[in-house]
Amino acid sequence: MSERIGFIGLGIMGCGMAANLLKAGFDLTIWNRTPGRADALIAAGAKLATSPVELAASCSLICSCVSDTPDVVEVLLGAQGVIHGAAPGTLVIDLSTISPQGARTIAAALAERGLHFLDAPVSGGSEGAARGTLSIMVGGPAEQVARAMPCLQAIGTTITHVGGHGDGQTVKLVNQILVVGTMLAVSEALVFAQASGVDLEKTLQAVSGGAAGSWTLTNRAPQCIRRDWRPGFTIDLQQKDLRLVLQAADAVGAPLLGTAQVFQLYRALQAAGLGHEGNHALIKAIERLAGIEVGGA
Ligand code: NAP
Repeated sequence: MSERIGFIGLGIMGCGMAANLLKAGFDLTIWNRTPGRADALIAAGAKLATSPVELAASCSLICSCVSDTPDVVEVLLGAQGVIHGAAPGTLVIDLSTISPQGARTIAAALAERGLHFLDAPVSGGSEGAARGTLSIMVGGPAEQVARAMPCLQAIGTTITHVGGHGDGQTVKLVNQILVVGTMLAVSEALVFAQASGVDLEKTLQAVSGGAAGSWTLTNRAPQCIRRDWRPGFTIDLQQKDLRLVLQAADAVGAPLLGTAQVFQLYRALQAAGLGHEGNHALIKAIERLAGIEVGGA
């Protein structure tokens, strides 16, 4: 296990992934814009860098997991970015969800300095990050994917090399079309069940094991019934992903009617000040249309 790993971005996802890299025995250096979020990892044995550029100087493989395309550009290519500290041959793996074109541009900028890049967005929620069971969609050259495998296997269980630079992000956007369509269906199903007066727990028990079963139904519907809006994934980041989906779909001329509707429902929830809540709070938009609330005490 010779790679010295650096990890940038210790949010909901990054914290879980970095903890699993430590558990797997990797030498780990970390950096987060807000330093307090690194405390638990330092206590578990990680070293703290003072900037991405400093982190890069001591690492051979660097992971990033921050919010959006401009944020990845900042930590990798900005004034204090990885590009200014990394030695030629270093591999950079971006685990964030960003635009496919952004990933290709970053790969090209790093390549000019002799640095390798993989886009490797993930799916599986905060639960998957904590348990090391993420699905990872990887874009980039096969030899770097092979090199990354021990690191990726420490944080995920389904690792698929889907194509060249940017293709990992395109497949992640496919994933998000599926996720929000399911979230809308879960929301409408629960509002209908509530309006019809059936027992919500028994309803979930009855439908989860059949053809309608899904990760979203199993993990997020019970939270909706308990009215627990703590985020595994915030509405603000979900909205960001749908913006990326609709931009990419526009570029290839693919009409996405349902996804565009969910984009607008999330926009309405952001306008109501709910952007920090979990993406399952989509149900609040449907509840408001119906004039009822699901579950509760
Ligand atoms: P989060 O909890 O909001 O964390 C965001 C992280 O990005 C924080 O560490 C934040 O630093 C850092 N950051 C944002 N902008 C930055 C900038 N300009 N410079 C430096 N650091 C910056 O988000 P998350 O849920 O972990 O999501 C991270 C990425 O994973 C996103 O691209 C998201 O779409 C993707 N993702 C999330 C999930 C999920 O279920 N949560 C699932 C799959 C993929 P501070 O601590 O200083 O704010």
